[in-house]
Amino acid sequence: MFQRELARAHDLSRRGAYRDATDALERSLAVAADDRERVHILTALAHILPRQGDLQAALRRASEAVALARQTPGDGFEARLAEALTELSFVYAQFQMGRDAAQAAWQALAAARQAGDRVREAWALNRLAVSYAAMDQTEQACQDTLQALEIAQAQVDPHSPHGDRELLLSCLNNLAHFWLQAHGEALRNGDRTGAAEALAQAGPYAQRAATLVREEPNPFIIAVTLSNQVEQLLGSGDLVQAGGLIDEYEALAVRHGYAGMQRQARAQRALMGLRGDALAVDAAVATIQHLLSGQDPPPLPARMRRQMSLAMYQTCKARGDFAKALAAHEQLSELERQSARSAMALQTEAMLIRQEFEQAQARAEHALQDARRERERADHAEQEHSKLKRQADELGRMAHEDALTGLNNRRHAEFALPLLVERARQERKPIALGLLDVDFFKRVNDTWGHGMGDLVLQQVALCLRKQLRAADLLARVGGEEFMLVFVGVPASRALDICERLRAAIARHSWKDLAPNLQLTVSIGLSTAEAPQQPQLLVEMADQALYAAKHGGRNRVHAMSC
Ligand code: GH3
Ligand code: MG
Ligand code: MG
Repeated sequence: MFQRELARAHDLSRRGAYRDATDALERSLAVAADDRERVHILTALAHILPRQGDLQAALRRASEAVALARQTPGDGFEARLAEALTELSFVYAQFQMGRDAAQAAWQALAAARQAGDRVREAWALNRLAVSYAAMDQTEQACQDTLQALEIAQAQVDPHSPHGDRELLLSCLNNLAHFWLQAHGEALRNGDRTGAAEALAQAGPYAQRAATLVREEPNPFIIAVTLSNQVEQLLGSGDLVQAGGLIDEYEALAVRHGYAGMQRQARAQRALMGLRGDALAVDAAVATIQHLLSGQDPPPLPARMRRQMSLAMYQTCKARGDFAKALAAHEQLSELERQSARSAMALQTEAMLIRQEFEQAQARAEHALQDARRERERADHAEQEHSKLKRQADELGRMAHEDALTGLNNRRHAEFALPLLVERARQERKPIALGLLDVDFFKRVNDTWGHGMGDLVLQQVALCLRKQLRAADLLARVGGEEFMLVFVGVPASRALDICERLRAAIARHSWKDLAPNLQLTVSIGLSTAEAPQQPQLLVEMADQALYAAKHGGRNRVHAMSC
């Protein structure tokens, strides 16, 4: 389906049926299978839209083609890019944006050379020349076109029905055209010899193109070629033949909807009219004024505008109608300014289209990149997260847990105590801190060994945990030393709890571990009804513990802050 539609579009395009070709291409664009096909279609659209005078659409399509070509790697990348850039260059040149046109053409040329594709190289050179012409650098334009022509002659069989005759004809037409441009410039500068030479240079190219075009099925190419010939005939004064050719190509342009060529025909006919009788001159002047007003974009090329201004002024002057000549001159300067303004408006529009397009491109690209980055980040983050979580769980446990007893360790106590103190302060609750130390523990180690000491410590921890369910903090803070913290427990009750604890340890039977073992603990308790510094609570408890030891051990000593 796609291939058939595309083949049809190409066939229509070759025959110059650009309107139908555009429809066919738009249809195939909708069903294109991949980006390569899309680049191909967009490029073809960019090629034929200017021929129907729709420069805005052409610029959009050419920009899309270039952007997509850049993003579509693989086989034929350089060739696709070269082709798309070549079309973009031509569209810019039609907007009279010579610099942009030349830049695109340079890039096209580089891509074509990298692709090793001579025909595309010649097309890029051809468009580079058109860019130079748009910047009024006629000499450079001629040089580049000659180079393109040389390649075209070596690569293209002009008599093959499938050969790229269009390239050959385009080079010949453009050369004729540029020499005619030089002819016009020389005339304006009053350089009659130079003008005659330029006209003589244009002649053979126009002639060769006219011969070659006989085999051409594409009416657009025929129209362009005929219009060149007309220009040359007008220069050499052969008005009769010129008139016939204008009629011929205008009919083609009307039939096939070539807007630019229709305007060109009107302009050339008006130029011819300036050489006729008074009536013809009046009509010609009116037509020229209308064309120069730039009311129907795209504007005529600058060269054409200048040619018409000059011709009109010279005609009136030659007829001795100095008042009219002066008026024409003044009016034409104004018209020049106006058309310069409308050309500028058109260029502004082109720049807006480009900007809009580039912004959309950038947005799409950013969105794509963001999405890709987000996905990568999410994948990475997920892996990283579960890894970190495992590590954190492990570390957290290790960081806060005492390996021997499974109680909280000293680090945890240091971390938790300030928070408990702060909570007591905020909730205006009393706080109590106990330090519990096993009495004469050294003897346990000495008598039963260090291993037994460890088992005893584990049992002490278990006993503490059972007794102290209500405690907000229970931690092993030293070898045989433990810390207990109660929030919201008044001093007297804290003392009771500690006493119960001391008694429980003293009562505890150790016969499973060591039949003769007796174990007691001493507890120092600090209590505070009003908020206290954590450090002060610890120091007070330490003092109380010292007092308990010195008081004979196996006792609780309490101090209040
Ligand atoms: P006091 O009543 O004055 O507290 O006498 P004490 O023997 O309990 O005190 P001291 O500070 O002289 O001795 C504490 C002993 O605890 C010394 C050390 O070998 C022992 N110890 C510290 N940590 C551990 C441990 O993790 N396992 C074992 N088995 N012993 C430990
Ligand atoms: Mg101790
Ligand atoms: Mg001890």
